[in-house]
Amino acid sequence: MSFSRSLLLPFAAASLAAAPAPQVAPADPAAAARVRGHIEFLADDLLEGRGTGTRGHEIAASYVASQFRALGLQPAGDNGSWYQWVPLRRARLVEGKSNIAMATGGAFAPVSEFELGLRPSLTEARREIEAGMVFVGHGISDDRLGINDYAGLDVRGKIVVLLGGAPSGLPTEIAAHLGADKLRAAAAHGAVGMLEIGGRRNSDRPAGSPPVSLYSKRPAIDWIDKAGRSGDNMGSVRVTLSASRAMAERLFEGAPKSLDAVRAEAAAKGGRPRGFALRPRLRIQSESAWEDFRSPEVVAKLPGSDPRLAAEHIVLMGHLDHLGPVANPKPGADAVNNGALDNAAGVATMLEAARAFVASGKPPRRSVMFIANTGEELGLLGADYFAAHPTVPAASIVGLVDLDMPLLLYPFTDVIAFGAEHSTVAKAVADAGRSMGVAVSPDPMPEESIFVRSDHYRFVTRGIPAILLMTGFANGGEAQWKHFLGKVYHTPGDDLGQKIDWNAAARYGELNYRISRTLADADQRPLWYRGDYFGDRFAPTAPRATP
Ligand SMILES: [Zn+2]
Repeated sequence: MSFSRSLLLPFAAASLAAAPAPQVAPADPAAAARVRGHIEFLADDLLEGRGTGTRGHEIAASYVASQFRALGLQPAGDNGSWYQWVPLRRARLVEGKSNIAMATGGAFAPVSEFELGLRPSLTEARREIEAGMVFVGHGISDDRLGINDYAGLDVRGKIVVLLGGAPSGLPTEIAAHLGADKLRAAAAHGAVGMLEIGGRRNSDRPAGSPPVSLYSKRPAIDWIDKAGRSGDNMGSVRVTLSASRAMAERLFEGAPKSLDAVRAEAAAKGGRPRGFALRPRLRIQSESAWEDFRSPEVVAKLPGSDPRLAAEHIVLMGHLDHLGPVANPKPGADAVNNGALDNAAGVATMLEAARAFVASGKPPRRSVMFIANTGEELGLLGADYFAAHPTVPAASIVGLVDLDMPLLLYPFTDVIAFGAEHSTVAKAVADAGRSMGVAVSPDPMPEESIFVRSDHYRFVTRGIPAILLMTGFANGGEAQWKHFLGKVYHTPGDDLGQKIDWNAAARYGELNYRISRTLADADQRPLWYRGDYFGDRFAPTAPRATP
């Protein structure tokens, strides 16, 4: 799972009254042992945290390919192999070769890295940009919702300045998507740069705090294909920036409204501040150094049996990569981010779901693909590359189930199905859950925007009904989630020292199997619901179902 760490801190310690634990049916003990075997291998210190592009991750990939082979699946990567190699680029700003100057009416004066930060470029080794700035509200442009924060503003060749987040009152998954879609909107209007200033959530970040300078120091990483196309394709946008609070306020000097005033407008229910031109101009010079490398997706296929449906594919995926070693470990401290739950658990349960397909003795009607992704922790990169360069015809992928960071620490009795409510996949999830005594609950933490933070989202934006199942808050889940996200997530503590509930692990694998089996065997492929935002936006010509 790929969260912004700053989003997690507001979690308060959970306090739950003890309730009588519901009875949870035991899974097949052999299934629990198999899942345990996979997780114990993948989360071993020997794999050094499975960082994208590392030997540890490639050993893990080799293990998954061997398991696919042993199950009798077919390789479905590049050229009949198990692997699709993702070409990746890491870009860093060259020390001492980047500077930003600002002029508000008078002469240009240098701006420090604590005031304005900029991201390295993956496509331009040298950048020289001089541009004016325009405030564009939340920076949202969406015909379907009737929101166009760019209306009446000319931002061509300008740097757009926008507030993070989305107007209040929108459905949470749409709000999360709009928050993740701002670069595209800026490019669609011809902007040359984008500067997002903290939304309400971040409005108290003090000037000069680490995020602005770290914004420049962290490398940028994305895939870059033979044609030089990057997943980080920003169209006309050549630079993205971050400002300290004091600098953000300075950008509004002499403007029709202050930053505080537009923030107050945005804080009102449904508030959507209108944009206007800002007075400052920026002059940006930067040099980026590149390091190119590659990392594999592991891809397998179980051919379908129905001549009419076998050309269609249902995809199960889980990311195999994690964070690698701790950057600067304290002497004697645990130095490996093992990623036992994030996401050895998802891959292990995907392998168990694959085994269940084979062990049923009855091939699915549609073909089923199994993918162990890379680069998820770096920004959903492997899934995005596969979605842009699928090894089967893109139109043949008709549904997707993502297994990412199931919290297998308690006997879960409910799940949250991110993305399911938009399509007929909702019914498959509800039916499979009912058959196992597992309820489907609404998202209990919409502020986390989980819908856009895992690999399945890269398929939603390509028009494919795709879901992610999270183990729910019932039966002790809430306290486990709050503890995990607050204390364990993306630390060396996500290791085999946790009390993993192997029965819950087997049940999670079984549940995902039942959902994907239903999708693979149904007469009708998964269909977006009529009038659904994501279906209308990303699959406008696809057939529809009535909810
Ligand atoms: Zn993660």
